[in-house]
Amino acid sequence: MSSSSLRKVGGRPISKIWEWFVKGDLVPNSKGYYSATCSFCEYHWSTAKVAKLKKHLAYECTKVDSDTKISILMMLTNNCDDSEDDSYDTSTTSTTKSKKRKSNDRSQTHIDDHYENFPTPLGKEDQINKVLAKMFVCCNLPFALIEHPFFIEFVKTLRATYNLPSRWVLTETLIIQEISRINLKVNRIINEENNMTIAFDGWTNPTGQSIYDYCLITEDRKEYLWCSKDYSNVPHHTGAFLGDEIIKIVDNIGPERLAVSDNAPDARVA
Ligand SMILES: [Zn+2]
Repeated sequence: MSSSSLRKVGGRPISKIWEWFVKGDLVPNSKGYYSATCSFCEYHWSTAKVAKLKKHLAYECTKVDSDTKISILMMLTNNCDDSEDDSYDTSTTSTTKSKKRKSNDRSQTHIDDHYENFPTPLGKEDQINKVLAKMFVCCNLPFALIEHPFFIEFVKTLRATYNLPSRWVLTETLIIQEISRINLKVNRIINEENNMTIAFDGWTNPTGQSIYDYCLITEDRKEYLWCSKDYSNVPHHTGAFLGDEIIKIVDNIGPERLAVSDNAPDARVA
């Protein structure tokens, strides 16, 4: 169509796909298709369309090696500009950019249908688990949600081969890992800072616990949560009590690196 004239000038560039197929004869009256034989399983096409060949290696061929299969899946997911593709809309001329996008979107949906059945690599699973843990904590979601059938259905619709961790793994492993990772990071930052301000504030969480947060504010006004203390068992959070608490924390950080600030009225006494 719009790109056919462009293609005629230099002929179609050779598609990468032919590394894995034996190219046969040009099929007469076929807009330039060839016959082809799969180098792995020797399946033969009298008229070979590039899209079919890719699909064969990605999902059908029983003898293809896994490296090749992954390359093909990458080609399919990136929808790389394979010039010999069957979609004639896939031109690189600027006048047909919008057309190209549309064509890509359509094939993307089609590819996703297959791609979601491809195993989720371990690295990807770790990445998803991290984001999942962060979401549960930061959005204050009930941990039971992770085992709710509707939530599982939602996740499976997005990525069928990803297995959600159990509630136990979420709370006992993933969240602990994420907390450790953040603590390490905060410690590293705080260790390099001087002239920090410590601020603290108390609040009651949804389960009725009395929590005090101690934050460190760096010279460039960045705020880090240093620690949280549960004072539910302390009957009166008096100035003297909080004073003792803050002295312990200040000693721990190094008093010479700090100034004290207050958010709660009690803190003035301290
Ligand atoms: Zn094959």
